Amino acid sequence: MPAIEDLDEVVRIVAHEMSAHLGEGRVADYIPALARVDPRQFGISIVTTDGRVASAGDAKTPFSVQSVSKVFTLALAINRLDEALWNRVGREPSGSRFNSIVQLEQEKGIPRNPFINAGALVVTDAVIAGGKPSEAITDIAGFMRRLAMDEDVSIDPEVAASEADTGFRNASLAYFLRSFDNLQSPVEEVLEVYFNQCALRMTCRQLARAGLFLAQDGLDPLNQIQVTSPQRTRRINAIMMTCGHYDASGDFAFKVGLPGKSGVGGGILAIAPRRASIAVWSPGLCEAGNSLVGAMALQRLAALTGWSVF
Ligand code: GLN
Repeated sequence: MPAIEDLDEVVRIVAHEMSAHLGEGRVADYIPALARVDPRQFGISIVTTDGRVASAGDAKTPFSVQSVSKVFTLALAINRLDEALWNRVGREPSGSRFNSIVQLEQEKGIPRNPFINAGALVVTDAVIAGGKPSEAITDIAGFMRRLAMDEDVSIDPEVAASEADTGFRNASLAYFLRSFDNLQSPVEEVLEVYFNQCALRMTCRQLARAGLFLAQDGLDPLNQIQVTSPQRTRRINAIMMTCGHYDASGDFAFKVGLPGKSGVGGGILAIAPRRASIAVWSPGLCEAGNSLVGAMALQRLAALTGWSVF
């Protein structure tokens, strides 16, 4: 079948097909504030490198970006530490759950990659860089607003508090990292910033817009901000492809063929290099903690557009 060029048509078809699957999967119930979200929602937004936007479904409904934020803190941390970051965190797929603690002990406090929770805590620590947590939170939120070109990007205090109240697993990972001397700031401060970055509230439209620099050598083509270098951009995309969906990353690469990063709020950011940034959202998750309908939608999008990188 020839690729469909009309992106309004693509999002319309995908949203229509996904309407038969709404409510599939399970919302993340280990974070009480996320457990209350209605799973019967789906949004999709595509922003192309030449500024076209196509959206469908609940693309204007804000949701909790959760681990999708890890792509953006990684960009900030690489800019800050450059090669030195890779002494503190690896870049291999983990093959384990996103919050696994076993691997961290075996590998002596060097997390497998920046997208599992342990790795993301190290990345957040690098963003804090010994400064105040409130300043790092302001920096991260400001970065997202600038990239989304929208002041209406906020942090949901209820979600951040809900995670802090129940984040015993993340606290354990952080103390473990500290015991291996792989956190510079106090554990409580790293967790505070981490929970706040995960609690960023964005729409598909805003998220797709914010990810656009990843599709264009690190240069945001719409506001001309050089967010990071071309080489770092290639590396972030490589890690999204190999690690962005935790222990289901291979399956996502197999079915979709685009670098992607998921979050337990049900969002996924996918990058079609040189073409577009795409955000989908549907709260029901698969076993591995990735949006079930979101991944299905991206599989259809890749088939309709022919955008797979392979
Ligand atoms: N805030 C969530 C956690 O730390 C993020 C996990 C995710 O989105 N995969 O558990």
